[in-house]
Amino acid sequence: MFVHDAQPMRVIFGTGAVERVAEEVDRLGLRRVLVLATPRQGALAARVTAVLGDRAAGTYDGARMHVPAETVAAAEQALAATGADGCLAIGGGSTIGLAKALSLRHGVPSVVVPTTYAGSEMTPIWGLTEDGRKTTGRDPVVLPRSVVYDPELTHDLPAAVSGPSGLNAIAHAVEALYAPDGTPVVSALAERGVRDLATALPSVVADGSDADARSRALEGAWLCGACLGATTMGLHHKLCHALGGMLDLPHAETHAIVLPHVAAYNLPVAPEAEAVLRRALDTGDVPGALRGLARRVGVPDGLRALGVDHADLARVVDEVLAAPYRNPRTPTRDDLEELLEAAWRGGS
Ligand code: NAD
Repeated sequence: MFVHDAQPMRVIFGTGAVERVAEEVDRLGLRRVLVLATPRQGALAARVTAVLGDRAAGTYDGARMHVPAETVAAAEQALAATGADGCLAIGGGSTIGLAKALSLRHGVPSVVVPTTYAGSEMTPIWGLTEDGRKTTGRDPVVLPRSVVYDPELTHDLPAAVSGPSGLNAIAHAVEALYAPDGTPVVSALAERGVRDLATALPSVVADGSDADARSRALEGAWLCGACLGATTMGLHHKLCHALGGMLDLPHAETHAIVLPHVAAYNLPVAPEAEAVLRRALDTGDVPGALRGLARRVGVPDGLRALGVDHADLARVVDEVLAAPYRNPRTPTRDDLEELLEAAWRGGS
């Protein structure tokens, strides 16, 4: 038996789709929306503001990684000062995370325009960082009401961000394939999403303005994000949360480095997941193909290349053992030490 809960989200996908944001705002019955962005994406915020016309209440362009409480407070002030009744977030997971925090605390709906492959727009998962501690939770109120994917907006995503961000998306699909709450719908999305990303990423990294590859990669990111939103993640996500939270590592790179190692550990006991991934990656050796893809798209070689001190790995193992996620295999301390050692060393 399985239960499939489809997330009630509307998706607009295609070149030039960003021109449709005003219609999406109207469709939701919103009068004036606060535009959210990071400081680096001010030009995009201005572009979307021009499209919105008098539906734009103002801009808050201070979104930051991990949704710090101070940033939320500043965005709340902007929300109150402008009298906005919704948000339009344009950017990656950090900007979308800020919109989610505002939805959670004030019930304001959001339209989002994703510009990376992180997939947050497809999930009811929110995060908030206060006094150095990140809290996360699930609440359907934070789900964006409308998601506008315009591949053209990703042409400027640097190669060094595109590769790891794409592998981060693949990790969502890999873990969804052996999740306790997986369904045939999720498996189909995962297979298509992994194939799209794996075939597109090398071209994206070679030529950021390859329109076909950018479109396929963003479509793959959407599908892999939907897998993340529909299922419960396992060992890979636990390891990456522990590594990222304790050692302050970059999100996408950490996922991209760890993924082949977790795949090598889990897939021998998850044959159905492995069969799907073999088809999607057109290979008989899934961990090897993931390692090869990571290398081709410029993922740093091992956690040590991110500056991780070997001595810190033991603390990460303790943290994973203290609060494990459900996983097809229950890892022992030795298993985790071996896995992290290999991920730290890289090179294979
Ligand atoms: P990000 O949003 O932090 O973006 C990274 C940088 O790239 C930013 O400076 C941004 O301005 C810039 N950028 C984004 N798109 C660009 C583009 N098209 N062109 C040029 N520059 C661009 O990074 P991210 O990887 O998208 O998101 C990571 C964050 O999202 C993490 O905090 C992670 O925890 C969170 N996340 C949450 C979920 C969820 O379900 N809640 C899912 C995935 C990720």
